[in-house]
Amino acid sequence: MTDDHPTPEMLDRLLAGASSSDESTRVLAHLLGRCETCSRYVRGALARAGRPPGGPGAYDQAFAGSLTRSSDGIASVHADQLEAAALWATIEGTPQPLRGRLIASDPRYHTWAIASRFLDAAAETHWQDSPGRLAACRLALAIAERLPTAAYPPGLTHDLLARALGSLADALRLAHQ
Ligand SMILES: [Zn+2]
Repeated sequence: MTDDHPTPEMLDRLLAGASSSDESTRVLAHLLGRCETCSRYVRGALARAGRPPGGPGAYDQAFAGSLTRSSDGIASVHADQLEAAALWATIEGTPQPLRGRLIASDPRYHTWAIASRFLDAAAETHWQDSPGRLAACRLALAIAERLPTAAYPPGLTHDLLARALGSLADALRLAHQ
């Protein structure tokens, strides 16, 4: 992974929404592989572009399809995906016992996308061990309870809370089998 960094030009193209879909898939996969070097570059590039890190819910609005498909819109979807990838990389690089505090203390993590990613992770095979699975569900629930109400339609927040509670109940049931 470390000898396979995307070039700064590739990262810039991704941030500008100008990379091919093959390239953006490859670069995003690299960032999701918790490359701190590239995540740092992306955070710097976002800061230089004057984007406040973590415009709340922007990534999720894109998910919900409410972002206009103008070229500006597409560029900001890419930036938000990159930022979510960088945040997720930070979470994965944080030891499990410290993740709760990290997430509770930083509103950038209080997004539908991050909570949803925890729920997906909880359902993945390598998280099937019950402590990891339980922790992922608890973190998803902690985020769901902290979603900024102004950033999301109430239905989306309620769905997320219901999913988090349902997953936690499943994980608890599995842990006690
Ligand atoms: Zn890298």
